[in-house]
Amino acid sequence: MPELPDIVVYLDALERTIVGRRLEAVVLSSPFVLRSVDPPLFDAEGKTVRAVNRLGKRLVWRLDDELSLVLHLMIAGRLRWSDQPRAKPPGKIGLAVFRFPDGAVLFTEASPKKRASLHLVRGEAALAEHRRAGLDVLDADRDAFAHRLTAENHTLKRALTDPRLFDGIGNAYSDEILHAARLSPVKLTAKLSDDEVTQLHRAARDTLTHWIDVLRDQFKDRFPGPGDITAFRPDFAAHGKFQQPCPVCSTPIQRIRYAENETNYCPTCQTGGKLLADRSLSRLLKSDWPRSIEELEGGPGGQVAGRQ
Ligand SMILES: [Zn+2]
Repeated sequence: MPELPDIVVYLDALERTIVGRRLEAVVLSSPFVLRSVDPPLFDAEGKTVRAVNRLGKRLVWRLDDELSLVLHLMIAGRLRWSDQPRAKPPGKIGLAVFRFPDGAVLFTEASPKKRASLHLVRGEAALAEHRRAGLDVLDADRDAFAHRLTAENHTLKRALTDPRLFDGIGNAYSDEILHAARLSPVKLTAKLSDDEVTQLHRAARDTLTHWIDVLRDQFKDRFPGPGDITAFRPDFAAHGKFQQPCPVCSTPIQRIRYAENETNYCPTCQTGGKLLADRSLSRLLKSDWPRSIEELEGGPGGQVAGRQ
């Protein structure tokens, strides 16, 4: 969280508000958010934003002089726009304010665990260090997807949400993708048939494309507020819908809790009618899970064993 559709919405909003504008100042309210030392942050001041794009889930602001600001929102990081160039960051949750002539981007994190980060880098090589191994599902054909999916044996829930394997899919969209593919979250990737891989690839692309289209349309005229970037959407089929009727078959949606998360699924559509919500499955998902968010999203590298 935020996941690929949310990141696309932020890119659209930043494209409209800051590309072509001069970044006049960066004011840090939480010095810890800045994780780079060289070049110094003030080098970014006075530079014009030439483009915005993404590296996986990281937002990249391309500035003059080969400088790039890399923002990683992690779980609770959010951006918002203020029409006041002198806007102050909101209380305890403020991380940084990026001031432009006609307004400001506020970078916030509503969590005591400060995980969101900001880096300033110069040059393409330094920027490339922020690239992660995850495959972009929207760019991947069926065979590339299959190869990555089965590179390691994991539960489907874990494989889809592992950023070393795939880019930008988190807890919410993995539930939606598995529901669309009619596959169990605890099925092991080594046990998938060719047809099931094809089904999952199609469901991943269709689900992400659908939600990118929906959210782009919803936020085409405004910068999303902090509450707009959420893992819970009324029109989701399974995620966050525990005990509510499945939109396909009306069976109440079930859940398995593990680590700090839960996964939601429809027993009729996805598990042949079986209820999976027992302790052994929670243990299975938990044991197939890295111990911390940092382990999943943390430092550079994160290459999949035995892959290029
Ligand atoms: Zn169903």
